[in-house]
Amino acid sequence: MEYVDSILDLIGNTPLVRLNRALDGLEDGPIVLAKVEYLNPGGSVKDRIASRMIEAAEASGALKPGGAIVEPTSGNTGVGLALEAQRRGYKCVFVCPDKVSEDKRNVLKAYGAEVVVCPTAVPPEHPDSYYNVSDRLASQPGAWKPDQYSNPHNPRSHYETTGPEIWQQTEGKVTHFVAGVGTGGTISGIGRYLKEQNPDVQIIGADPEGSVYSGGTGRPYLVEGVGEDFWPETYDRTVADRIIEVVDADSFAYTRRLAREEGLLVGGSSGMAAYAARQLAHELSRSGRTDAVIVVLLPDSGRGYLTKVFNDAWLSQYGFATGSEASSQTVGEV
Ligand code: PMP
Repeated sequence: MEYVDSILDLIGNTPLVRLNRALDGLEDGPIVLAKVEYLNPGGSVKDRIASRMIEAAEASGALKPGGAIVEPTSGNTGVGLALEAQRRGYKCVFVCPDKVSEDKRNVLKAYGAEVVVCPTAVPPEHPDSYYNVSDRLASQPGAWKPDQYSNPHNPRSHYETTGPEIWQQTEGKVTHFVAGVGTGGTISGIGRYLKEQNPDVQIIGADPEGSVYSGGTGRPYLVEGVGEDFWPETYDRTVADRIIEVVDADSFAYTRRLAREEGLLVGGSSGMAAYAARQLAHELSRSGRTDAVIVVLLPDSGRGYLTKVFNDAWLSQYGFATGSEASSQTVGEV
């Protein structure tokens, strides 16, 4: 019989899928390979970091049997933690602001987590604010806060799993790696591993216009999960060789193209990273580097964004293109 003991045993070892039509030419190379992380059991790249962070906390004694995992998160990291918490018998409490959609909260509850919702309309010093509530819960006896923004096991999980997978899957032929940057765990861990194998591998961050990584001041943007208004400890500033800035309009138009032209229903941060990879591929092609092998990481599925990126009314409200015209018009220039 062929089976695994737990769905968690299927985390990692995600496939590489070659991009075709959405590259607009480039049949003679470079090739662009997407690392499809929505195929992880919890639906995102964040499944990878949860088990490592929890294992380390158990080993250090920070998390004890019967304890509670408390994290301010509404998304992918919460799902990863909730999955691992089930297996190991921990309680999970996630704190999120009330602007987070009910669908997202329900996903976390469905996996057995408790969700505490805080009002957005109160100042940070208010006792009910997001910050105060999560600090208060995390300081209860038996509670442990993973803090993905400072936890070294976040980048380490990518150094130990995602990086080696990419190296092996490309038989060491990867020349460029592209990823969006949120906590920086993905790019820092994978980038460090790939550079240790071959110092010539170029590591490229993709970043929403307005975020600090591409020189912004934290000005708001709409793509979710990437970009920051501060520099997290998990981001290793020495790893990226270059940051490509992508505006929301291009991220969303390209996210839609990936679904329509490549069958990849992914979130906006995947569209952003893939848009940067396509731009890079065209630049390399123009300079004769047709032998380049670009790997781009796609963090999560588009199913979590059906009412946003894949909703015409939502896109139009911000003045973004919606229909098939988005395919050629917005991303025509590289
Ligand atoms: N995309 C999405 C949808 C995410 O949730 C995250 C994590 N914040 C990222 C990209 C960025 O990954 P990292 O935190 O490892 O930089």
